[in-house]
Amino acid sequence: HRKPVADLTWENRFQALGTAYGRPQSPTELPGPFRIAVSDEAAALIDLDTDDPAFVSTFAGNRTPAGSQPFAHRYAGHQFGMWVPQLGDGRVVSLGQVRNRAGKLWDVQLKGAGKTPYSRHADGRAMLASTVREYLVSEAMAGLGIPTTRALCVIGSTMQVARDTWHPAAVLTRLAPTHVRFGSFEYLFYRSQFDDLAPLADHVIELEFPDLADQAAGPARYQAWVAGVIERTTDLMAAWQSVGFVHGVMNTDNMSVAGLTLDYGPFGFMDDYQPDAVFNHTDETRRYAFDRQPDVALWNLGCFVQAILPLLSDDPDIAIGLGQDLLKAYRPAFDAAYSRRMAAKLGLPDTPATADLRDRLLALMAGDHADFTRSFRGLCSAAAGDEAAWLAAFTRPDEAAAWLRDWRAAWPVSATTMAERLAEANPRYVLRNYLAEQAILAAQAGDHAEIERLQRLLTRPFDEQPAMADYAQRPPAWAADLALSCTA
Ligand code: AMP
Ligand code: MG
Ligand code: MG
Repeated sequence: HRKPVADLTWENRFQALGTAYGRPQSPTELPGPFRIAVSDEAAALIDLDTDDPAFVSTFAGNRTPAGSQPFAHRYAGHQFGMWVPQLGDGRVVSLGQVRNRAGKLWDVQLKGAGKTPYSRHADGRAMLASTVREYLVSEAMAGLGIPTTRALCVIGSTMQVARDTWHPAAVLTRLAPTHVRFGSFEYLFYRSQFDDLAPLADHVIELEFPDLADQAAGPARYQAWVAGVIERTTDLMAAWQSVGFVHGVMNTDNMSVAGLTLDYGPFGFMDDYQPDAVFNHTDETRRYAFDRQPDVALWNLGCFVQAILPLLSDDPDIAIGLGQDLLKAYRPAFDAAYSRRMAAKLGLPDTPATADLRDRLLALMAGDHADFTRSFRGLCSAAAGDEAAWLAAFTRPDEAAAWLRDWRAAWPVSATTMAERLAEANPRYVLRNYLAEQAILAAQAGDHAEIERLQRLLTRPFDEQPAMADYAQRPPAWAADLALSCTA
């Protein structure tokens, strides 16, 4: 049973924390709003009826729902390793948190909703292209089972925004239990607002770490919380690495304390496997290359732990020691999570022998720039007997055939069971950049059907969906030079 917007229950818990964390800020009127895409699955998270006549005006930011208290959050962050003392929701407004029937709170944010106190010199708006990309990938990540902010809808506009040239604008509505970032804490720490750290941490604990909420407030609870943030981050990194996802802008202001994939900009799923693939052409030092992501996450966690040191102990030396000990858990936890996920992708038990097979396969793939998604998914048909198609991707068929032989020898179950297992662990469909680009070009020409088709496809990325086989292909030649930047 779905409700109209007017019946949503708003609690505005983040807003209630006060002006240490941001400012009240209404969305700016969006001219000529119209519906471009709506995720019914995301709407279900807040029991929302997407046919409500007030839907478009609400999520354009043109009508503030009764009970909502729009607010812009202030944070800071390390961007490409450099400290930036003030960032914040420069083009995002949170309408507040909706409590759904199941009792869960969802923060509802409009991205591209106009200027805020944190817009600096920018316009507070978002390009249609970037909102469609974020919409599609949010729902695709959810389909893959990877923690992510969700996307409710994209609302288009007659307005254009100035970037390299004029582009159509749009507003994205995203949902998450919390959008609090590592940088939210860094802002407070570097301004010596130490007393403001605990209320924000308590807010996050209450929403996302309910097991800790019952523990008495104090250093022990915050230590457990930080351990939880580190653990979720290791799981997230392992998940990204297992599907060939490159975030592109892993600044600390884009790192979620709830372990969600957050702030999609120049992201990509690799087509050709290159361990050092970069998806952001402004990232000249390759800081955010695919194979650096797990290390970058640790570096970012270091920034986060630094910022919450006052919560770990009243004694700074003790706090530093505790923080260092907590961070030491990252590397082994990441290795374990990665090893587990990759073993599942090979259909094998998580053993050192499987790790060897994994590394041999990745080396073969890297050597031939083999397609990341197809190389793994292709193991299903290889298991079912069709080895030729899989081998055809490799220029050293002897090595590839030897690998298949050794992999087969390690199978713990029958070929049929293997094929089923592999199909559950290796997606057939991911949001390849060329697919997103096609949907964007069509949308810019007024046709939104491709967005819907892609979204429906990517909601079930592990299903064969034979009628959609074209969407599992490598990119066509025209897509070879698609370049992505932070332009958004
Ligand atoms: P990002 O690299 O996309 O995570 O953004 C970094 C910072 O720039 C954040 O504080 C954003 O809110 C802000 N920002 C990005 N684009 C705009 C825009 N068009 N208007 C205002 N602020 C923006
Ligand atoms: Mg950001
Ligand atoms: Mg962004």
